[in-house]
Amino acid sequence: MTLFDSHCHLDVDAFDDQAGVDAAVERAREAGVVRMLTIGSGYGIAAARRAVAVAERHSDVWASVGVHPHDAKEWTPEDWAEMEAMAGHERVVAIGEMGLDFHYDNSPREIQREVFRHQVRSARTLDLPIIIHDRESQGETLDILDQEDGWAGRGVVFHCFTGTVATMERIVSSDGYVSIPGIVTFKNAETMREVATRAPLERMFIETDSPFLTPVPFRGRRNEPARVGLVAEKVAELRGLDSESVALATYDNASRFFGIN
Ligand SMILES: [Zn+2]
Ligand SMILES: [Zn+2]
Repeated sequence: MTLFDSHCHLDVDAFDDQAGVDAAVERAREAGVVRMLTIGSGYGIAAARRAVAVAERHSDVWASVGVHPHDAKEWTPEDWAEMEAMAGHERVVAIGEMGLDFHYDNSPREIQREVFRHQVRSARTLDLPIIIHDRESQGETLDILDQEDGWAGRGVVFHCFTGTVATMERIVSSDGYVSIPGIVTFKNAETMREVATRAPLERMFIETDSPFLTPVPFRGRRNEPARVGLVAEKVAELRGLDSESVALATYDNASRFFGIN
């Protein structure tokens, strides 16, 4: 298969050390994962630095930089300046993941909103696509994208999309994308299977969100990019397609979106 894992966290802390990250990248290659995007967001500014370092080490790994809603409250003006400078690095192809998480509420909602708005504007200025993390924001993420004209830039993808078919349709009608994770293989994920069946294939990515969300039959173990093929297989089964065509379509979509030739 020809696969693009559009969202993973190849973070040294999650994969023990540098050798652990390198070994996971190697296993992914053997499984047909030709491209990976490692997310430089979620563990403070250090996450952005580490993501860029991984992308520098591996020619088939690219990086994003951004501020996760979880640590929005910790960010300083110095962090902003460093992150925006890193966004100019040739291996950095997106801003995010950013957005709102009202499930965990790890940062106060008002700060989450402000930090999210700021990043949407930054992405527009820097001319980079936007990766969204949205959990239980009740549509506020979409509203802010509308208000800040986020859709009009280089593009928007909702990673690990857990919303309804109606929300998916709203995203697609705004020229956005949805990314399907390994949750689609979980027993109680009926809504996601419906989304994965009905979303236009040309508006879909697939991802692992490694080290999280390990698909069936590996649940309980650490996830890694090598397993993104299981997502392609599930989506193919739902849509009555072969896995290779789902792999190739989502590979092309993500490559175009991130501007990787
Ligand atoms: Zn996320
Ligand atoms: Zn993530």
